[in-house]
Amino acid sequence: MKAINIAVDGPSGAGKSTLARRLAARLHYIYVDTGAMYRAIAYHTLRCHAETEEAVTALLPVIHVSLKYEDGVQRVLLNGEDVSDVIRTPEVSMAASRVSAIPAVREFLLGMQRQLAAEQSVVMDGRDIGTVVLPDAQVKIFLTASAEKRAERRFLELEQKQPGAQTYEEVLADVILRDKQDTERETAPLRQADDAVLVDTTDADLDQSEEMMLAVCREKLGI
Ligand code: C5P
Repeated sequence: MKAINIAVDGPSGAGKSTLARRLAARLHYIYVDTGAMYRAIAYHTLRCHAETEEAVTALLPVIHVSLKYEDGVQRVLLNGEDVSDVIRTPEVSMAASRVSAIPAVREFLLGMQRQLAAEQSVVMDGRDIGTVVLPDAQVKIFLTASAEKRAERRFLELEQKQPGAQTYEEVLADVILRDKQDTERETAPLRQADDAVLVDTTDADLDQSEEMMLAVCREKLGI
């Protein structure tokens, strides 16, 4: 049977990973968080103090990124080490946005992402899934929300993990800067695919957003 591919793209903080994970669970598909792959590479480059494009590119041959699933939860391995938790800091977020603009880094992950989607039915989230990675995905969703709302969600999430780590204003500035970097880069910029359905979650909670996404899938897949 042909694998079903659902692409979920959008800016940071739109709720992509939580919603894509929930959608995958509802449909019994595998969830693939491509942001975590960029984060793993970014984490390695920070550890190695690789700051220029040349230095990051030179590291790629010694980087091995892989995914494993524990009770349906995706874990990211960097050269065999589980880095799933340590890649969630603001510093790694910003570094991920920087390294993901490097064409060699995108090329490095592209084959792996396509392979995963060819082997099994997936909900894959990222920035360029519907436009570059899986242009033939049966369902494409572009998930967004206002920058203020996205910053508010990120801020509340961060407050729970690391109280006082960043102010709301700092989180908002980071969201705006990452949006700018992600949409203005030359290689695979964040962009809604022509055939993607826009889902705006500014005024929706998680349950409502999940239902909106599920409705799109039902319509496109006839399920
Ligand atoms: O989604 P997440 O915030 O974990 O992604 C981290 C960074 O990785 C993003 O800011 C973006 O620059 C980059 N990314 C990307 N393409 C993807 C997924 C993530 O460029 N498919």
